[in-house]
Amino acid sequence: MPGTLFIIATPIGNLKDITLRALETLKQVDLIACEDTRHTQKLLTHYQIQKPLTSLFEHNERLKVPSLIHQLQEGKTIGLVSDAGTPGISDPGFVLIREAIRNEILVIPIPGPSAVITALTVSGMPTDRFCFEGFLPQKSAAMRRKLEQLKDEPRTMVFYESPHRVLKTLKAMLEIWGDIPIICARELTKLHEEILRKPLSEQIQHFTQSPPRGEFVLVINLRSA
Ligand code: SAM
Repeated sequence: MPGTLFIIATPIGNLKDITLRALETLKQVDLIACEDTRHTQKLLTHYQIQKPLTSLFEHNERLKVPSLIHQLQEGKTIGLVSDAGTPGISDPGFVLIREAIRNEILVIPIPGPSAVITALTVSGMPTDRFCFEGFLPQKSAAMRRKLEQLKDEPRTMVFYESPHRVLKTLKAMLEIWGDIPIICARELTKLHEEILRKPLSEQIQHFTQSPPRGEFVLVINLRSA
């Protein structure tokens, strides 16, 4: 009998944000595939779980997948986690999951936190429809092209951003979309959680005065300006 691949969501900051099913599954699987073994080890130690870990990150995913599929075919159960939140959401996982499905291996989701949904829930913007744009392109010209393409997007949009790029992104948004309100959700579920709802120009002013720290989700709806 082939084994099972469990896709397990883990906290995006606060270690208490883990489901009972996620803990049970982490305790049951034969092996945990994770991005950074040291990072996942901290979570496991916190919950007194001892399991073998193997790393699966963006640059080794394609190389590593055949051996994981082989182990699943031999009947092992594997839990896939990422450093934070839901695997596969701007995180590795897609290649392993696709290959598992192609090889008729059972793939079971263990749902839990994701920064995109967490930020949307407190945005106060329409959430009946939304589009998740993940990280914008790194290069300025490509980022601006993408923002131009999104000019007529009627749905609420969600972006991931890092602290060292967020000001540049907010400035490009202001130039291309005008001075509309945006939600900057920072360090969600963590000690310094901050959810700022202000027009782009005021967000830029704020983060110029107090330099951005931590991880960011940006939520914007061009129709509700
Ligand atoms: N798989 C994760 C998920 O389900 O949300 C996302 C991983 S992605 C590599 C990391 C990005 O997610 C960060 O740069 C940030 O944009 C966002 N993020 C993750 N945790 C966050 C948090 N606690 N507060 C705000 N943004 C967060």
